[in-house]
Amino acid sequence: MRDSRHESPNPVEKLAPKAVVGRVSLYLRQLEAFRAQGQVTISSNQIGTALGINDAQVRKDLAFFGQFGHPGVGYRIDELLTALRRILGIDRDWPMALIGLGNLGRALLKYRGFGDRGFNIAALFDNDQTKVGMRFNDLVVHPLDDLPKVIADKNICLAILTVPAEAAQRVADQVVACGILGILNFAPMPLNLPPTVGVVAVDLSVQLEHLAYKVLNTQGGISYLGSTFRDEHDSLE
Ligand code: ATP
Repeated sequence: MRDSRHESPNPVEKLAPKAVVGRVSLYLRQLEAFRAQGQVTISSNQIGTALGINDAQVRKDLAFFGQFGHPGVGYRIDELLTALRRILGIDRDWPMALIGLGNLGRALLKYRGFGDRGFNIAALFDNDQTKVGMRFNDLVVHPLDDLPKVIADKNICLAILTVPAEAAQRVADQVVACGILGILNFAPMPLNLPPTVGVVAVDLSVQLEHLAYKVLNTQGGISYLGSTFRDEHDSLE
């Protein structure tokens, strides 16, 4: 198995902005697609065109992490892929704990898209006695008392939290006390944790609100939807 622990966490102030990291993930997928088509080298212009991002932005994002281009050649795709995988930390295995085997937790467990990026759910936890001992995907659900032992035994450093909002902070504190370095938090509740612990929040309602806002504000959507609403409303009066 590949090394799964960070040697030492990056100092927070050196972290790239969230938007840059998000675009680097897009570049990675696009480079994989270009390579699958047999392409060997690529320019920032080609990456940008494929993704609807301007080439200066692509160069600026990549320059945040180092010098990858070659004069007269552009980027060598294999070389850039290796570098971006290392930068994003997907050049290693990430055994993860999933905590909260409710509807969302069980749905995530069924999702097959994590594994090929090195993210493997390796342990399950729940505090519901009716769920403890159940098996999902060949994994047994542990009580939270087992956190220290299982996390250490399986070399787990990431946790996915799919517990209710009111339990999230307590569970986060427990996993951090066991040495967890990063949390993907699906609970609609901000977590208060030491800055050395990486937290990414996935609040699906917030994402939907963002989507609604975008739809309403794109291509005259506000006036279109607004007038539809008014027309229906008017006809009732
Ligand atoms: P279900 O009906 O199966 O409980 P749900 O999606 O409605 O599903 P939630 O109330 O959202 O369940 O809780 C998600 C999961 O988190 C549940 O399996 C619950 O037992 C678990 N859970 C709640 N509190 C904790 C806690 N403190 N520690 C660990 N797991 C918890």
